Amino acid sequence: MPQPPSIVWLRDDLRVADNPALLAAAEREAPVVVLYLLDEESTGVRPLGGASRWWLHHSLAALQSSLDELGARLTLRRGSARDVLPALVQEVGADAVFWNRRYSAAREVDAELKTQLRDDGVEVRSFAAAVLYEPWTLTTGAGDPYKVFTPFWKAALASEEPREPLPPPTSLDGHRAESERLDDWSLLPIRPDWAEGLRETWSPGERGAHERLEEFVEEGLSLYHRRDEPGIEATSRLSPHLHFGEISPHQIRHRVQQGISPAAARNRAKFLSEIGWREFSVNILFHWPDLATVNYRREFDAFPWGEPDPDQLAAWREGRTGIPIVDAGMRELWVTGWMHNRVRMIVASFLTKNLLVDWRTGEEWFWDTLVDADPANNAASWQWVAGSGADAAPYFRVFNPLLQAERFDPDQEYIRRWVPEVGTAEYPEPIVDLKSSRDEALAAYEAVKAAKA
Ligand SMILES: Cc1cc2nc3c(=O)[nH]c(=O)nc-3n(C[C@H](O)[C@H](O)[C@H](O)COP(=O)(O)OP(=O)(O)OC[C@H]3O[C@@H](n4cnc5c(N)ncnc54)[C@H](O)[C@@H]3O)c2cc1C
Repeated sequence: MPQPPSIVWLRDDLRVADNPALLAAAEREAPVVVLYLLDEESTGVRPLGGASRWWLHHSLAALQSSLDELGARLTLRRGSARDVLPALVQEVGADAVFWNRRYSAAREVDAELKTQLRDDGVEVRSFAAAVLYEPWTLTTGAGDPYKVFTPFWKAALASEEPREPLPPPTSLDGHRAESERLDDWSLLPIRPDWAEGLRETWSPGERGAHERLEEFVEEGLSLYHRRDEPGIEATSRLSPHLHFGEISPHQIRHRVQQGISPAAARNRAKFLSEIGWREFSVNILFHWPDLATVNYRREFDAFPWGEPDPDQLAAWREGRTGIPIVDAGMRELWVTGWMHNRVRMIVASFLTKNLLVDWRTGEEWFWDTLVDADPANNAASWQWVAGSGADAAPYFRVFNPLLQAERFDPDQEYIRRWVPEVGTAEYPEPIVDLKSSRDEALAAYEAVKAAKA
């Protein structure tokens, strides 16, 4: 009698190494169906934006070739997980399903499926893979979730050491199940093809992720104390790889703890604390699943956001605000699908404070255009800048984008790269007066203070 196959359901863990669900299936010594399910229907699942779809296509293609080398195929299916997964279990006669856990509202789908499949006699196992510390493992003395980063990260560092990364399976006994064709999913833009800058900038997939990490450890990490300067490459640019799970935080942590130069070692704790911010965002999203749409601090519901002026909004999106650092950031985003963190803060502050546009409008634009668009980090960061988030920058701290540029891009290296016409007659006048718009923002904030009082 042939052994029934097991199904490994991959989601945001598109890698073969350090993948506990895949390894567990391999260790059963039964045939394996490796499934990726394009689910744009289930509640709690947010359909991907354009830049993420581009990335997903290439990441799945890369994963397919890694699985080929191990002896398995990637089975592609589309639809609601609640329908597709049980149907596939039936179709291939699987007796086990494995996945790595997710922490967004989509986990409700997982919980339902776990109960349903177990009721049908299928073994279901889920694993921790995307974070170093699962959200429920770190709580305050009173048993509540942490709402402030510093004590959260202190507790994380004082808790049990995260595990070491796991090896990839040595081989897989791939079970053939019918698969849709990746090309039929139309994840890539065609008319127009706006992805040229993305192709030039990124190598999606597990191999690309590890190459990026190596490059960063060898060159960037020793410059990481200058991570706020957008003109130099001092940060890892691992965010899209981390978002799609082509590399895990365990692998990154392990790599930066060994064999690095003394100059790099001096920046290690700071770098790991940024990975800590990612963990913190996941922790917040886990406990506040509607973080992308609802103010974490509910007194911000009283904030009088204006109807966005379509011309101003278009100028912000297209990098034509007349504020050079804002325009540089928005153009970097449009061309490469990524923006430097300091500049993300500046453009988000400009939108929410100088243009008085609701942070959700900015969050949606980033969701569509970022290759690292992430339900936890994007929502938490937008709320952080807007002042409505957990451990947020106070609303009244309005960045002055001109002073920020003087401080972090003193030689205009970054600005000139993205806005070469700056200082010429071609460059537009600012669409808003920074001083009076700041005063208006502070006046509007009074409504929040009143709601809180
Ligand atoms: C308005 C706004 C929106 C953002 N949206 C996203 C998003 O959708 N996806 C996303 O991954 N990050 C987001 N960030 C956080 C941050 O800007 C990016 O993670 C970072 O710029 C990625 O570059 P890097 O990989 O070179 O970072 P590095 O400095 O090399 O950091 C390493 C990793 O740590 C994590 N990290 C770093 N900074 C932060 C941070 N402030 N908050 C949470 N995690 C962090 C990321 O996973 C990153 O890849 C946003 C920030 C702002 C201000």
